[in-house]
Amino acid sequence: MERASDNDPLSFTLENWQREIAPFGEAGYRARQLYSWFHSRRVLDYGRMTNLPGPLRQSLEQQFPLRLAKATHKARSRDGAVKYLLCAADGARFEAVFLPSRSGASLCVSTQAGCSFHCSFCATGTLGLTRNLTAGEILHQVYYLANEHNLSSYRVLLMGMGEPLANTQQVLKALKRLVHPDGQACSPRRITVSTVGLRGRISQLARELPGVALALSLHFTDDSQRQRHMPAAKPFPLGDLFDELITSEGLGKVTLEYVLLEGVNDTREDAAALATLAYSVVPRQRKAVPPSRLRSRFRGFNTYHVNLIEYNPSPGAEFQPTPYAKAESLQNYLKAAGVNATYRRSRGRDVAAACGMLTATEPESQRK
Ligand code: SAH
Repeated sequence: MERASDNDPLSFTLENWQREIAPFGEAGYRARQLYSWFHSRRVLDYGRMTNLPGPLRQSLEQQFPLRLAKATHKARSRDGAVKYLLCAADGARFEAVFLPSRSGASLCVSTQAGCSFHCSFCATGTLGLTRNLTAGEILHQVYYLANEHNLSSYRVLLMGMGEPLANTQQVLKALKRLVHPDGQACSPRRITVSTVGLRGRISQLARELPGVALALSLHFTDDSQRQRHMPAAKPFPLGDLFDELITSEGLGKVTLEYVLLEGVNDTREDAAALATLAYSVVPRQRKAVPPSRLRSRFRGFNTYHVNLIEYNPSPGAEFQPTPYAKAESLQNYLKAAGVNATYRRSRGRDVAAACGMLTATEPESQRK
């Protein structure tokens, strides 16, 4: 059974609360009321839990203070994305982004303050890691954004700062609260965990949260190039990574994320290798199948979805985005090979809210 850690009350399960509340001499249904205030109504203030007796609210406040991070800045992009900077009591800073769209809102949240992975194309990676976020801090971002924007339904993207699977324990705790039927009852299929891929963690995620969607930050199709640009990927070569993807029972939709860097990973050969990887779902072949034959050879198979991503340059970055026309032709090449491929244009770039731009800095210092 999950144990409560008393400094993170937002992450408590209902059973945790039942046990914690018993010494106050309160009936079990109080725990259910409290749980519902937090996770169903998203009320993060004991003072507003009006159906709880006053003395209980005071005791809770003293014994289980929420110590929520404060939203100190808000930046609205021309395209509707809104980025929030949150500061924890210990000074850790992290960002969360609201992304509206015609098909509904997505909430992009951070799992770490900073990041230790140092991917060459990502500004967050230059920061280094301050610390892991707690499950409560991850949930707070979701509830805060959902409250700010008055949402009853939304998708959740673990695509903010940090590497979710380097903080698996807290991430899983948060996601389990989020899908719980007595809380937000968020479908795991509406939650996407984005990861560089860490050994054993993808299968763990699939086991503990069946149906959850995974975005694999692939970006390069050969190990030496991938390891050069994503040094943390070194201990986990692509062969092992795809083996784990294929054998992770329970995993929901898998997307291969591929950021297009001009002259680095955007040739026709790169696209051909990407198409082959997208067909990794089909049983291993003894003889390699050329990309031009993939479609006819594996008719009827679903491939992994490939998401080509527009690169967001940060000041001083060494890369350029692949021009749109070329990105489109790579997408068409993939489609012709039978791969379900999309091209993601940036959102929130003007306020540094887009992928790979989150550095938890004040707006002034973001202005160029
Ligand atoms: N560490 C996790 C979660 C971060 S998600 C991961 O790497 O998946 C952020 C996504 O944006 C990842 O797919 C990341 O590779 C991508 N990204 C990083 N820098 C980028 C940039 N400058 N432009 C576009 N996408 C970028």
